[in-house]
Amino acid sequence: AKQAGRGTFRVFDEATDFHLQSRQKMKAALRAALGKGELSVFFQPLVALLDRRVTCCEALMRWHRPGEGWVGPDQFIPVAEEAGLIGAMGRWILHEACAQAMGWPEDVSVAVNLSPHQFRSGLLVEDVISALRASGLSPHRLQLEITESVLLDPTDRNVGVLQELRKVGVKIVMDDFGTGYSSLGYLRSFPFDKIKIDRSFIRDLPDAREALAILKAVAGLGRSLDMRTTVEGVETQAQLDCSLAEGVDEAQGYLFSHPLPAEEVCAYISRSRR
Ligand code: C2E
Ligand code: CA
Ligand code: CA
Ligand code: CA
Repeated sequence: AKQAGRGTFRVFDEATDFHLQSRQKMKAALRAALGKGELSVFFQPLVALLDRRVTCCEALMRWHRPGEGWVGPDQFIPVAEEAGLIGAMGRWILHEACAQAMGWPEDVSVAVNLSPHQFRSGLLVEDVISALRASGLSPHRLQLEITESVLLDPTDRNVGVLQELRKVGVKIVMDDFGTGYSSLGYLRSFPFDKIKIDRSFIRDLPDAREALAILKAVAGLGRSLDMRTTVEGVETQAQLDCSLAEGVDEAQGYLFSHPLPAEEVCAYISRSRR
């Protein structure tokens, strides 16, 4: 029994060790990735439900890791946060996204995701202003997507940052709406320009009564509070029909397009306007 116990312990130990090592390796590789040009931005179009035109494209980070292929943000963003790299990466994607958007028609905006860590740094407002200046993009064409976790900060500091960003003229979007503990409460703490209803609610449409009731309620809330509403993760015509029936403003999902490399998204935007 003692033998087995020791054996088990060793296996566990080695597994932990392996995990730590691969995380350390990933951190080091990620640190180098920015300089080596291994990071890229893909863009996924958001489409107005009334006329199917592209209104905005969301910038989504991708890492082409040598020997491993494409790595998605769910895998490397948490590592980037832990390694203190999210500031530099966030700054990079803000610049990249604004620069690309300058090549699109003027009524198409660009959306960039922000990490709560970027709020804590105290540099966010500066970074946003610098990306706008460097690219020449009008502030109203930049949308910043934040999740409810940004507002979890019990101090009011983050609300202050949001107000400063609003003064700069950019739009503020509440992402993944409905997944936090007090989603409704957050709508009281800040007047968002747009609410993105989380994909988990859309996935269950059209059959789940609960998901449909929530979609209806949030669409109504958006209208009363003067916030635009978007559904994300739309994959089927039935999900789109429900959203349209409830008066949602725009949609994003594989039904329209997967995230695309910068060159391809330009062609997609032009096609949507014909
Ligand atoms: P998110 O902001 O909720 O982005 C939407 C995610 O859903 C994207 O995954 C997108 O590719 C995926 N998606 C879009 N349409 C569909 C669909 O119809 N069906 C399904 N199943 N999925 C769909 P992605 O690109 O892997 O990004 C994952 C998350 O990583 C994002 O979730 C966002 O929170 C974060 N992220 C991505 N880029 C950045 C970034 O530059 N900075 C920060 N801080 N976070 C980022
Ligand atoms: Ca997002
Ligand atoms: Ca989302
Ligand atoms: Ca998400």
